[in-house]
Formats: sequence, structure tokens, C-alpha cells
Amino acid sequence: LWALSKRPRCFHRPSISRSISTLVLGEHENGSIKSQSLSAVEAAKSLSDDNSVSMLLAGSGPSFNEAVKHAASSHPSISQVLVADSDKFAYPIAEPWAKLVHMIQQREKYSHIISASGSFGKNVLPRAAALLDVSPITDVIEISGSSQFVRPIYAGNALCTVRYTGANPCMLTVRATSFPMPKSSAESRSNGASISQVDLSALDEDSIGKSRYVKHTSQDAERPDLGSARIVVTGGRGLKSAENFKMIEKLAEKLGAAVGATRAVVDAGFVPNDLQVGQTGKIVAPELYMAFGVSGAIQHLAGMRDSKVIVAVNKDADAPIFQVADYGLVGDLFEVIPELLEKFPEK
Ligand code: FAD
Repeated sequence: LWALSKRPRCFHRPSISRSISTLVLGEHENGSIKSQSLSAVEAAKSLSDDNSVSMLLAGSGPSFNEAVKHAASSHPSISQVLVADSDKFAYPIAEPWAKLVHMIQQREKYSHIISASGSFGKNVLPRAAALLDVSPITDVIEISGSSQFVRPIYAGNALCTVRYTGANPCMLTVRATSFPMPKSSAESRSNGASISQVDLSALDEDSIGKSRYVKHTSQDAERPDLGSARIVVTGGRGLKSAENFKMIEKLAEKLGAAVGATRAVVDAGFVPNDLQVGQTGKIVAPELYMAFGVSGAIQHLAGMRDSKVIVAVNKDADAPIFQVADYGLVGDLFEVIPELLEKFPEK
């Protein structure tokens, strides 16, 4: 509402066209489409009932070919899979991706381009928007029609309704946790979207830009991904040391959960920063979020308050985390966690 009231009264650019066609930027890993990209398709669905959705996939090699097959049958709303098969896209580097999106948009004239709001989308979409000379709208959590969107501001303490009045395409990053793919959609998969190869001859040789792929390090391939895990066990500064933090890891292992951390814990060097949950970390909305020794600062709540069930253990009864917790236990985590470890059966 704030944004609408500040909206200028006359517009210099044409508003977006009535016919809706959307390009979703698809992320893939190990031959599968990532769940956040399917959430982006869900978001595309809510733009209009007659939206024609294409998914763009780029990469090369056998696992990429598997991902293309998966994309074609992964969501009933995808009508076409556009395939950019080239070594240039062997790794998801933002510069060539942005040039690819720019090139495709000039040919296909989509009304909307959507990506999930993860590190990939936040890296690629604004670059592509700059090349297309439009202003992207980021972190969308609700869509009301083809040009009105809700996004959080002030670390999620206020919601801002914005209307897009610019030229095509309207470019969005969407929070995957706000557009979960319903189980029924997953079951009623499409008969198979059409697959079209993208002609890449117009992409110049320097489209790789200044970035170079160096290496990929992954913390723990065994553990569920923090962004999409069903259960997250998070430790805060109350753990006091990296050694003590291992209790959180053990508990997560027993529950088949992902491990999360507050920024205080990351800054203290107990765990790497890819475990950080919050405004400047990952946004999660698991079925169960367990927080041990976490005070519940607004910047932390911004990343986990949409979790379905929140359990908090803190020795301070006035800790703000208890204001969002469904179940709270005022107690010492050094007593509670060992007890839980003893009582939970091995996975
Ligand atoms: P503390 O606030 O120190 O809380 C520790 C808690 O542990 C206390 O409540 C205490 O009562 C409890 N405790 C201590 N001992 C025990 C015990 N034995 N048993 C049980 N409980 C115990 N933070 C994030 O987490 N994520 C972000 O993305 C993030 N982004 C930020 C961005 C900006 C711009 C800024 C300014 C800050 C950001 N922060 C973020 C930091 C945030 O403001 C807090 O400082 C941080 O979340 C606090 O972490 P904590 O809860 O682990 O530590």
C-alpha cells in the first residue's frame, strides 16, 4: 500500500500486455529440476489461468540431458522446455546466463520472467533485467494478478504491495517457500512438455564474461539441503563453542534434519556461513523448526517465521523466540539436548 500511494500518477512506459506468457529459469542438479524451480512454476501459474509457461534449462553433459527429460514431465503447467545445450553453461555462472535470457527475450517476447529467489536467481535475474532495461521485483511472496505483487520489507516486519507499471518483461524473483508445489500437482504430472533447442549462434564468444568457474564445495552431501529440508535444527550463541555445536549436528542426524545457525554463531566461526538462517542468510519454512540457544532477533525471525511448527529451547523466559514458537521450553540446552539425544531412536 505504501508503494501504491507513492506511485506516480502518469506513466511514460507502456504497461505490460494482456496476454501472459512466462519464462521460468530452471535450476537443475544431478539430473533433476530443483524443487525451488517448480515453486517458480507454481508462482507463474498464479499470474493468470491461461498462462503459457516455458522453462529454460542450460547446461551440458549426461546429467543435463536427464534434467531436460525431468523438466518435461515435472509440472503439468510447463508447456515447453527451452534447452540451451552448451559448455558455456556447464556451471551456473551469472554472466552467460543473463546474456542467454536477454537473447531469448528478444526473440520470444515473454510478458514475465521468473526465477526462484535463491543465490542463482538473485545473481542472474537482476543482470538480465539490466540488459533488458527493466526493473526487477524481488522476493515476491504473493501474486494478485499479472502485475500486483506482495514482498516483505524491513526484515519481514511489513509487507509491501507493489504494482508493476513498466514495459515487458515483468521480471520477478519469488520465495520458493511461499509457492509450494501441491502434492496433487506432483502426482498429476504432465504428459510431457515439448522440448526445443535454443539456437545459440547469436551468443558471442565473450559471453562468458569475467567470471570463471573454480570449484564447487558442498558442506555435507549426506544431510538434507537447508533450503528445502522438512526439519531444521538450529543452534545459536547459547551453544558457546564449535565443539558444543556438534550436539546440534548429532540431533539433526538422528532426525534426518538439516542444520541451521544464527549469524552470531557463523560470525564466531563455529560453522560456515551457508548454514545461516535469516535476513542475510537462507529463508526456510520447514514443517518443524527447532531452535536451541537462539534469542530470536528480528533478522533471524525473517528467515524462519513461516515454519509450520516452531520449537524453541532457551534459558531466558523473555527471549523473543518464544513469541513465534508453537512449543517453548525454558531450560538449559546442555541438559535438554543430551536428553533428546538419548530418547530419540537412531535414524
Ligand atoms: P544471542 O542473541 O546472543 O542469543 C543467545 C541466546 O541463547 C540467548 O537468548 C540466551 O538466553 C540463550 N542461551 C544462552 N545459554 C543458554 C543455555 N545454556 N541454554 C539455553 N539457552 C541459552 N542473525 C541471524 O541469525 N541471521 C541473519 O541473517 C542475520 N542478519 C543480520 C543482518 C543485519 C543487518 C544485522 C544488523 C544483524 C543480523 N543478524 C542476523 C544478527 C541478529 O541481530 C542477532 O545478533 C543474532 O541473530 C543473534 O544470534 P543468537 O540468537 O545466536 O545470539
